Amino acid sequence: MTHTATVTLPGADYPEIRDGVRRICADFPGSYWRELDERDAYPTDFVQAMTQAGYLAALIPQEYGGAGLPLRAAGVVLEEIHACGGNASATHAQMYTMGTLLRHGSQAQKETYLPQIAAGTLRLQAFGVSEPTSGTDTTRLKTRAVRDGDSYVVNGQKIWTSRALHSDLMLLLARTTPLEEVERRTDGLSVFLVDMRETVGNGMTIRPIKVMINHNTTEVFFDNMRIPASSLVGQEGKGLRHIMDGMNAERILVSHESIGDAKWFTRAGVRYANDRVVFNRPIGQNQGIQFPIAKAYAAAQAAELMVCHASEMFEAGMPCGEQANLAKLLSSEAAWEAAEACMQTFGGFGYAREYDVERKWRECRVQRTAPISTNLILSYVAEHVLGLPRSY
Ligand SMILES: Cc1cc2nc3c(=O)[nH]c(=O)nc-3n(C[C@H](O)[C@H](O)[C@H](O)COP(=O)(O)OP(=O)(O)OC[C@H]3O[C@@H](n4cnc5c(N)ncnc54)[C@H](O)[C@@H]3O)c2cc1C
Repeated sequence: MTHTATVTLPGADYPEIRDGVRRICADFPGSYWRELDERDAYPTDFVQAMTQAGYLAALIPQEYGGAGLPLRAAGVVLEEIHACGGNASATHAQMYTMGTLLRHGSQAQKETYLPQIAAGTLRLQAFGVSEPTSGTDTTRLKTRAVRDGDSYVVNGQKIWTSRALHSDLMLLLARTTPLEEVERRTDGLSVFLVDMRETVGNGMTIRPIKVMINHNTTEVFFDNMRIPASSLVGQEGKGLRHIMDGMNAERILVSHESIGDAKWFTRAGVRYANDRVVFNRPIGQNQGIQFPIAKAYAAAQAAELMVCHASEMFEAGMPCGEQANLAKLLSSEAAWEAAEACMQTFGGFGYAREYDVERKWRECRVQRTAPISTNLILSYVAEHVLGLPRSY
């Protein structure tokens, strides 16, 4: 009896999506991203091309005009953008935040916004959670939304609200019941879908922040910003839970970007190590050059398996906090290892902008900090997976 098994290798699933994204990325080479990076400019043409091809509506159900694809397919889109040398940060928030809207949005919200987002006439790219004083301790955020008749009045400040100047909608987390009045500190926070076309200059002020990468990030100020009560997503006071619901998806999606980065760095490093001749031999002949690249490759392969595993569990509706967090941890570390190996392989030329190595090196570093930093993941694993005492 013969037994044949088919194995889809990670990196080979969704071939049509991979080909399609690669074709679009071929029109946006390194020079495109470098030029934007110099100007801190938003990749409007790239985002439009991706939107028109339908890739940014991957997670929107078909009944609302989207593709209704699994999370893994959306992740593959992001991975390929990064593996081609681009950066998905201009586009990914729509995918990150989609879960909150799909699971907790009212029928009216979904019918009003999703078809327009899918068609690309409305952009949902801003996610306002982080604040300057509370840091990772989200329960202590200070932005307040107070109900006043048919409205909420919002006061406070957000920081690191990326793409706010290039979005029509913002998913905003604010406190509706003061911390002192709630039984559990995770209660009393609410999530709102804010129509920024109404609020910018009308209680909402956005200021860009200059950072080491081209991320179009901003700080956002709310000064008696009035929004309709119908902006509330889900239940008042349960906003943190509604957003947390989507955190596993967000971690799995961002892990794909790191996997794409690791592939780009490995390819670039290997090519350069084969081509560059010093002391009459390719530098890649030296094991001191080979081994860091090979080690990073192994780490990235292992991380990719975890990303696939986490995606599968998510899609099957299984609890996957452990796998999503491990995928995020392992992929961001593997991408950084690959970045360092590539940078070192390029020697002085790694610093020359025209090779894109320094740009990608700067860009991939952020995954170790945002949307959740490495320490906080380790702390989750220690406490919730291994049963060690709660540390904060
Ligand atoms: C480029 C960029 C884009 C971003 N985009 C967005 C966005 O669109 N929307 C949004 O809401 N946020 C965004 N963020 C914010 C990001 O999610 C936060 O920066 C990140 O979660 C870390 O929070 P923090 O900077 O306040 O660090 P802090 O909470 O101040 O932590 C600082 C350091 O201390 C460590 N630390 C803190 N507490 C503990 C502990 N108990 N144990 C061990 N270590 C600890 C952290 O791991 C971290 O390394 C973005 C950030 C960046 C840099």
